Amino acid sequence: MSSLMGNYGRFKVSFAYGNGAKLYTENNEEYLDFASGISVTNLGHNFKPVTDAVSSQAAKVIHTSNLYEIPLQEELADLIIKNSFKGQVFFCNSGAESNEAAIKLARLYGNTVHHGKKYKIISMYNSFHGRTYATMGATAQEKIQKGFTPMPAYNQYIPFNNIDALHQALALNDVCAIMLELFQGEGGVMPIDVEFLKEVRRVCDEHDILMILDEVQTGYGRTGFLFGYQLFGIEPDIMTLSKSIANGLPMGAVVAKEKVSSLFTPGTHGSTFGGNPLASAAACAVIKEMTKEGFLQSVKEKGNILKEYLEKNLPKECTIKGAGLLRGVKTPYQPKDVAEACLKNHLLIVPAGNNSVRLYPPLNISNDDLLKGAEIFVTTIKELGK
Ligand SMILES: *Cc1c(COP(=O)(O)O)cnc(C)c1O
Repeated sequence: MSSLMGNYGRFKVSFAYGNGAKLYTENNEEYLDFASGISVTNLGHNFKPVTDAVSSQAAKVIHTSNLYEIPLQEELADLIIKNSFKGQVFFCNSGAESNEAAIKLARLYGNTVHHGKKYKIISMYNSFHGRTYATMGATAQEKIQKGFTPMPAYNQYIPFNNIDALHQALALNDVCAIMLELFQGEGGVMPIDVEFLKEVRRVCDEHDILMILDEVQTGYGRTGFLFGYQLFGIEPDIMTLSKSIANGLPMGAVVAKEKVSSLFTPGTHGSTFGGNPLASAAACAVIKEMTKEGFLQSVKEKGNILKEYLEKNLPKECTIKGAGLLRGVKTPYQPKDVAEACLKNHLLIVPAGNNSVRLYPPLNISNDDLLKGAEIFVTTIKELGK
């Protein structure tokens, strides 16, 4: 029996080292990485500016504690705010933790500004917000909650993109926040309707409800924009980040407008590791790279190259979804089987819900590697159809 708990169904392969869009086994077998650790290593493996920042910081000091000032954490927060919206940042260590903090902020807002009258959190069916108790409660999927019920009673679920259901859920005037993704990543890269998103923004303004955008997967350049909301021309009140924020070091962040962020006073929330010097050094290197002139433009271009190739070459029963290099493909096959077959052909991809798989190459992949991966994917899908 393994000494590891059995909560993962892992593919039978392991990697010893990587470079750019490629991962290698101990026997130097090469795999093209269109998984990026589930949109974490968005700048590829062994990306020099990040490797250098991490090694030089590790040699100075890895951890001090939020008992003390951490200049790199402040620099990182400034960079995030400068490139998103006016507000403040709290750092933690994962996507679930960032959503936990967002939920706590929403509760604090309801309890102070609305004197406890607003406390419900609306989230969407088929969403994914994490595996901790509160974030699992916001994740309206039976397969995630099975065996762990009852869920927190303050959650209310509505069908994604359903404006009528949204209006009905507001009838009691007891909602403090609406939490949603722009593309439901785990759910199969299901895109939000722009009309629905605009209506969420409108009702949030009208009723002083907080709009929480979970950008854990859509953030950090994946869509061709630094943050996904920038593609839609609206702003959230709270945005949660993680996955690619430090290109593989564990980190999460909550960005909130000041009317919300100011509620986190000393003693209300915290994290031992959150924003420590090592993770902050990596994250500063990441955001500096992604905000360089031309970087996001090139993600958009690569996204189009990938989309056009897939549209032209995939069998017509496949559907292509997403934006930029956040690509989902719905196929007639089980997502796990598609990922397994791609693995055999030395291409790593990510299974998702809704009979879909995700193609998440690093954002700085070369056009050659991008097309090579796309070609392996198409060949694999055609093989499955034989
Ligand atoms: C991955 C993910 C999470 C959870 O992040 P963890 O770091 O695994 O806790 C939450 N929300 C979204 C949208 C995600 O993609």
